[in-house]
Amino acid sequence: MGAIAEGLQATRSRIQAACRRASRDPDCASLLAVSKTFPAAAVREAHAAGQTRFGESYVQEATAKIAELADLDLEWHFIGPLQGNKTRLVAERFAWVHGVEREKIARRLAEQRPPHLPPLNVCVQVNVSGEASKSGCAPDQALALAALVAALPSLRLRGFMAIPEPTDDLSLLRGRFRQVAELLEAAQRQGLAPDTLSLGMSADLETAILEGSTLVRVGAAIFGARTYF
Ligand SMILES: *Cc1c(COP(=O)(O)O)cnc(C)c1O
Repeated sequence: MGAIAEGLQATRSRIQAACRRASRDPDCASLLAVSKTFPAAAVREAHAAGQTRFGESYVQEATAKIAELADLDLEWHFIGPLQGNKTRLVAERFAWVHGVEREKIARRLAEQRPPHLPPLNVCVQVNVSGEASKSGCAPDQALALAALVAALPSLRLRGFMAIPEPTDDLSLLRGRFRQVAELLEAAQRQGLAPDTLSLGMSADLETAILEGSTLVRVGAAIFGARTYF
């Protein structure tokens, strides 16, 4: 078995073990393979090992890879920070966007989503650590932004995404993830129908699953260390 197939298998085992430990269904969290910085050949290898959902962070890199892999049936997720001048390519080429943090970006994506495609799946990104350098809207603005996304017909509100600050303090980390889980519940109580908590990466997927993550975004544990981020 190649290194990527092994990385996938090990990651799937971690997810299943974490779901069991959280007393959740063994397939409670879907795996998004984060292929940023890795070549199309690596994605092809992961696909051959059964992976179909892939995440990318850089628009130019991603669109080249998507074109190169057009012969495969893949589901592409944009997970990077999204500038206003890059929304069109994302609206045209991706199935999901995890990093929507402002009304203006949501409206542009909605306008630019081609009408022949299904609605673009959107997660609102929340800055749970309050770090000025981090992407995401303030937690107290997340529900309003979610409601706006839900009201735009070419977008489909799926849920919330967050990247807490790195920490060894597990109870702090759990609290960050829980804050996002509570936003999802609040949105559901308001009559919105989000179903996705995009939480957890290579280093912290177990903790994220304990707090209800339904989708983990994993790069390094599958593809190896990146030489740039
Ligand atoms: C790069 C990236 C990941 C994957 O991180 P790993 O530590 O390699 O698992 C997940 N989410 C986002 C938003 C990323 O940019």
